[in-house]
Amino acid sequence: MDAVLTETQEMTRAMVREFAEREIIPQTRENDRLHRFPAGLLKQMAPLGLLGGPIPQEYGGMGTDYRTWGLVMEELGRACLSTATTVLVQVSLVGLNLLHWASEEQRRRYLPRLTSGEIIGAFGLTEPNVGSNPAGMETVATRRGDDWVLRGQKTWISNGGVADLVIVYAQTDPSQGHRGIAAFLVERGMDGFTSQNIEGKLGLHASNTATLFFDEVRIPAEQVMAPPGQGIHSALSTLETSRMTAASAFVGLAQACLEAAVEYAQTRQQFGRAIGSFQMVQDLIAEMVVEVEAARCLARRAAALKDQGKMTARDGAMAKYYASEVAVRCSERAIQVHGGHGYSDEFPVERYFRDARVGTLYEGTSQIQKLIIGRETLGISAFV
Ligand SMILES: Cc1cc2nc3c(=O)[nH]c(=O)nc-3n(C[C@H](O)[C@H](O)[C@H](O)COP(=O)(O)OP(=O)(O)OC[C@H]3O[C@@H](n4cnc5c(N)ncnc54)[C@H](O)[C@@H]3O)c2cc1C
Repeated sequence: MDAVLTETQEMTRAMVREFAEREIIPQTRENDRLHRFPAGLLKQMAPLGLLGGPIPQEYGGMGTDYRTWGLVMEELGRACLSTATTVLVQVSLVGLNLLHWASEEQRRRYLPRLTSGEIIGAFGLTEPNVGSNPAGMETVATRRGDDWVLRGQKTWISNGGVADLVIVYAQTDPSQGHRGIAAFLVERGMDGFTSQNIEGKLGLHASNTATLFFDEVRIPAEQVMAPPGQGIHSALSTLETSRMTAASAFVGLAQACLEAAVEYAQTRQQFGRAIGSFQMVQDLIAEMVVEVEAARCLARRAAALKDQGKMTARDGAMAKYYASEVAVRCSERAIQVHGGHGYSDEFPVERYFRDARVGTLYEGTSQIQKLIIGRETLGISAFV
């Protein structure tokens, strides 16, 4: 047993590990090869509470603390980063966003359907010309009577092509800058809303990613989640919490790289000995061990602070920055340990390598995480 986990947390982790080994891992290679979104898995995960996490039980969630939720994400990341990404969006970017920013009526309408897997959610912030600087967004919402009309595009939206519900951020008054941004609840089937899947991704083949188009989409007033002035706060505060959870998924992926490298180093023979007996192979393994544990400490620290209501933007950014970079480095080392055999999908390390690369990009790039850490440390913002 892990010395820092309670018995309940250890049981939750063991339950998710058992499910992942039985249901997720056996299909990851084929899903990756076929670029197949495993919709059926979501239906299986829902009864276990894996689409609910910290969302309270009255809305169909598990009401877990964030340390436990981090363990769930770590196990999902260890099994399949595509699946972890799908769940991360469903729970952290959509469910918890609704919990904190939506009206009670909106929460009751959507949360039980998200936690049961009846509907899939997506979070629409990024645009073709707007990534690291969401305040400059070009998607606009114009008032028409009590309703709003939405025009623009969102791109690189996880779950976007399969989502029934999208939280869409839009500018309502460009003269107000970030204070003009509002958040809207857009449902699949609303006139003028279409999507197109993004093909040819480097990794995350089993995670759906899409561009969303809004052509004069009429949004009734009751579908406003965060009014102008609050939209940007909903986006940024949601990302702060979500980064901490994403960090746990990257720890899980780095752990998978380590385990694969250890197993291969113990069994592969060269020069009449297991390659794990060579000092330079041990060097690769030792670096992975230390970095995985350090990343795990940062992710668990951020989750523990969140549970105490003390987590700052810096804590989430540190965990996400470090864990994502560690996942990239561990995936490179795992391939090195496998030699040429690591260069095909005969072994999972090839997928780990491609999947890990997204961690330093989505939910804010590594550069943006460093600027947050710098700002919170120096009291000087590099963002203009
Ligand atoms: C697989 C995948 C899934 C995604 N899912 C979602 C999703 O569900 N919802 C969503 O809204 N978005 C999503 N994204 C988008 C993601 O959040 C953005 O790609 C990310 O925020 C970076 O934006 P950008 O790609 O436009 O890069 P840019 O902002 O154009 O940045 C390009 C480069 O410039 C650097 N840079 C930019 N500004 C600065 C600065 N001030 N100082 C230093 N360097 C800087 C960046 O670090 C980066 O290296 C996803 C992306 C991917 C790849």
